[in-house]
Amino acid sequence: MIVWFRDDLRLADQPALARAAATGQPLICLYIHDPQAAGERPPGAAMRWWLHVTLKALDASLREHGGRLLIVEGAQDEVLDACIAASGASGVFWNRRYGGKAREADAALKSRLRDDGLTVESFSGALLYEPWTVLNQSGEPFQVYTAFWRACRRAGDPPPPEPAPERMIFQRLPAGLTQLASKLDALGFEPKKPDWAAGMRDAWPAGEEAALERLRAFLHSDLEAYADERDDPSGAATSRLSPYLAVGALSPRQAFAALKAAQHGRHGQSATRGETSAEKFLGELGWREFCYYQRFHWPDLAERNLRAAFDAMPWRRDAKALRAWQRGQTGYPLVDAGMRELWHTGWMHNRVRMVVASFVAKHLLLDWREGEAWFWDTLVDADGASNPANWQWVAGSGLDAAPYFRIFNPVLQGQKFDPRGLYVRQWVPEIAGLPDKFVHQPWKASEAQLAQAGVRLGTDYPLPLVEHDRARQRALEAFAKTGKGKSQPVDDERKAKQ
Ligand SMILES: Cc1cc2nc3c(=O)[nH]c(=O)nc-3n(C[C@H](O)[C@H](O)[C@H](O)COP(=O)(O)OP(=O)(O)OC[C@H]3O[C@@H](n4cnc5c(N)ncnc54)[C@H](O)[C@@H]3O)c2cc1C
Repeated sequence: MIVWFRDDLRLADQPALARAAATGQPLICLYIHDPQAAGERPPGAAMRWWLHVTLKALDASLREHGGRLLIVEGAQDEVLDACIAASGASGVFWNRRYGGKAREADAALKSRLRDDGLTVESFSGALLYEPWTVLNQSGEPFQVYTAFWRACRRAGDPPPPEPAPERMIFQRLPAGLTQLASKLDALGFEPKKPDWAAGMRDAWPAGEEAALERLRAFLHSDLEAYADERDDPSGAATSRLSPYLAVGALSPRQAFAALKAAQHGRHGQSATRGETSAEKFLGELGWREFCYYQRFHWPDLAERNLRAAFDAMPWRRDAKALRAWQRGQTGYPLVDAGMRELWHTGWMHNRVRMVVASFVAKHLLLDWREGEAWFWDTLVDADGASNPANWQWVAGSGLDAAPYFRIFNPVLQGQKFDPRGLYVRQWVPEIAGLPDKFVHQPWKASEAQLAQAGVRLGTDYPLPLVEHDRARQRALEAFAKTGKGKSQPVDDERKAKQ
């Protein structure tokens, strides 16, 4: 029996593995690297590194149980056919994917293999609620997050996670199969020269044990502060589980169940605060579900504006500005801090993601897809649903999106969420010596203050790439050209909910 691992790189709460093990037949645990897989976006550079270390951890876990992970490079269908032929396997089990083309490819494969007499089963391993089960009263998909999540929660709790199978028998790989196997190192997922992954290695221990450890640590020490402190980019109040969820080293059901257990175990004065935090955290898992839901019902989420009016948006082409943003050299410290955190660790705090994404689509007036592509290449949690859905949300072109005229002011955002400049000083050390008042707007400091802090603006650290008020005006004028820009602009800093 072949268990085809895809974005579910774990042993616990891995329904395809559990069901295959329950058949009592010997297992082959397979991972296929298919750079040209139908409908699958090839992983970006940071994700390739993350896959490398996660696959290694999965292989180690399987070896502890007497098995191993068979990694094969090639076209998915051909690799499966070759594995079936070489092993004589009687079936293939996998957990579902939700991208449109990937689903089509899976459905075609399933029916072809079944026609050949194999047992082929697919399971739910990546989501709390299957997207086709959550519809409004007219039987249509929800377009608004709150209504979607309310409907999910009305459906009750998702099934509890299953432990790793107690008993697994592994098939001894015949020579035909070992010949197919690729060495993980040969896939070239790990950067060599230059080795840019050092910061990521420090930040992200890989594998399902590390994921569960992170989940436990978050629920025991950080959860209580989550509701109040989750917007502070220098703090550690958020779970940092996204990279583990992205490759399936952790399942959302595991996170959900552990949260519920922690809620029940909570006593004493902090109960209300803990309760609010737990609901808030659950709501974030809900946002993840909503992103997958969007990709399921609107499969071209990463390519097409969900609001067609945005097709008329006069995006600019400006390679120099894009590069300055990518390199953290825009002259806006909060934006630059975020982009450097991303480059160094493969992750960025959610608040800052919103600010830097808004900066691309609004201050620079660049197509959101250009920013999305950079995130895709540099995030260790790069996710085919969450990344485009959030970019569309920030740009205003998505479902239930932030209105386009909500233009984050990076200075005010910095002053509000990083008032002492801790985050900015960590990632933009050139300006660390500036007083708090100027650390988010160095250009407002006097010559003497700059000199005292050892900053030569325009030399050590850039002047702002664009001036906020002018950029804001330009963005609003561009938006008006779509025919949707007649609404009254609001002061984003006061009205913003998120
Ligand atoms: C422009 C932009 C791009 C993004 N790209 C990605 C991406 O590629 N992959 C990704 O996992 N998240 C993405 N996010 C969402 C969010 O920023 C990250 O999920 C979050 O920062 C991860 O940190 P955490 O695990 O500490 O989150 P927590 O606050 O602890 O949240 C718990 C979990 O909920 C989910 N979650 C939280 N916020 C969101 C959200 N807005 N949308 C979807 N899921 C959410 C994540 O799985 C996260 O691990 C993006 C957000 C923006 C604004």
